[in-house]
Amino acid sequence: MNRPRRILAVCLCALGLLACKSNSATEAKTPEKKSPHAKPIQEFQSVHQAQAKVEVSVSMHDSTAPKVDSKRAMQYVREVVNIGPRSLGSPGHKKVQDYIKSKLQGDQVEDDVFTANTPAGPFEGRNIIAKYPGKKDGIIVLASHYDTNYGFKNYVGANDGGSTTGLLLEFANHIRQQGQREGYTVWLVWFDAEEAVREWSEADSLYGSRHLSERLQKDGTLKKIKAFILLDMIGDADLSVEEDMNSTLWLRQVIYQAASRYGNQSYFFQRQGGIVDDHIPFVEKGVPAVDLIDFEYGYANVYHHTPQDTLDKLSPRSLQIVGDTVLESIRLLDEK
Ligand code: ZN
Repeated sequence: MNRPRRILAVCLCALGLLACKSNSATEAKTPEKKSPHAKPIQEFQSVHQAQAKVEVSVSMHDSTAPKVDSKRAMQYVREVVNIGPRSLGSPGHKKVQDYIKSKLQGDQVEDDVFTANTPAGPFEGRNIIAKYPGKKDGIIVLASHYDTNYGFKNYVGANDGGSTTGLLLEFANHIRQQGQREGYTVWLVWFDAEEAVREWSEADSLYGSRHLSERLQKDGTLKKIKAFILLDMIGDADLSVEEDMNSTLWLRQVIYQAASRYGNQSYFFQRQGGIVDDHIPFVEKGVPAVDLIDFEYGYANVYHHTPQDTLDKLSPRSLQIVGDTVLESIRLLDEK
């Protein structure tokens, strides 16, 4: 495959934590290859370094700013998590698919079925895509993953997969209420099989996003994607969203500008790092993309991929902050 740009890569697996630390902001200018997944980068400019280009206007009492219903979003998260483990081939995996689709009745929904050839054998994977047509020519994608890790015991992924599966359902409510969109078409994508089945590697991870990006490249749809916004692990009550340096700079700036409309910019981009997540197959194919992820889940990320990733660590306030920011980002993107 052609790589249009070289990227700094830090995986989301347990080992990735060390790598993430090694690429913290202070060392950002000379990233070291401490992780087997780390690669050199060509460009490393944070939103703060590019500050002059970002229009920041704090207006906390702006009643016209779009807002999600975070109570309702949290209820979705609770229902998703209460299903139990959602790993490939498990009963919960099918249940969560049915649950997501039950909330999208009347919407244009596509089942994107594929085979994930994993080290534990082939599994049927299923991305779920809800499409909301707009008048402008182009697509804005909002995405997340719904699966949990294969073979993990007592693991429900409340933050990792659960929080954003619920928040995407709330986005569906918001967009549906607007009726015919004046702006771009919006796709909500619930990816399957983001997690590694054995150990995180390029081959054992991101099965759903790799599949969809390849399919859309083949049929020509990929060129229509104006912006791809990925959400992962943003339900953490102690919210601090990474600035992922593998994400497109201008889109990071849109996010920061959107957050500033609510006075919420301090929750964004205080830490810089390089993240490998479902946006990477799209970044590699030239799609403008940003990953919104808080990869500091508990002190030193101790809750990540453990049975401690439970509902009590989450807060509707975090869903509100990230949800509002994404809605405002869509509004800004529609104006472009
Ligand atoms: Zn994970």
